[in-house]
Amino acid sequence: MPHPSSRPMKADCENYLDHLAEIAAGGSHEGATAHLVNCSECRRKLQELSQVLNALSRGIYHAPETLMLSAEAIMPEPVTLSRRRVFALLTQNTLGFSGARSASTDTFQVRYATPFGDVRQMILPENGGFEVLTSVDVQVDRVLHGGQELDVEGGRFGFQCQSLDETGFEFWTGDSVIVVPSVNESLPNESVEPDPLD
Ligand SMILES: [Zn+2]
Repeated sequence: MPHPSSRPMKADCENYLDHLAEIAAGGSHEGATAHLVNCSECRRKLQELSQVLNALSRGIYHAPETLMLSAEAIMPEPVTLSRRRVFALLTQNTLGFSGARSASTDTFQVRYATPFGDVRQMILPENGGFEVLTSVDVQVDRVLHGGQELDVEGGRFGFQCQSLDETGFEFWTGDSVIVVPSVNESLPNESVEPDPLD
């Protein structure tokens, strides 16, 4: 019977793939840790996985495709890493130069560009909060607002929120996730809170 360490390295590495993902996510595995000491290929793989997870946890992801694919191959199901995250960019707002300062009282519209098409929002102040009507010129598979899935009809959906920090949402199209930032994140003025010195 051959000693374990004399087995082909490739077979060993395959046994530890799932555990590398656990370790990258902050867990531990005794066998895999021992294996890592002697296997530079798995150490490299672990480092790549950690980079991917770090980037994802910060909400920014610009890792090269090869890194993405190797992470996807290793991660346990369900695999969501293969979805590219794309940030929508504010291109128009009807508040003009007054920016977010007047947004707490006036109905206004914003438009965001994505690589796939435009996103438009009409924002209506209502009962101390906002009614937000959104229309997306793109095939929408799924919309999440504040962690809640919304019903979408023909690319249109609506929701209520308490502040302009909460108008952002994410939608799934094809193999991408488009992140639409909130009005407060997008407009030139940082906040619609009244200036305390006014
Ligand atoms: Zn290995």
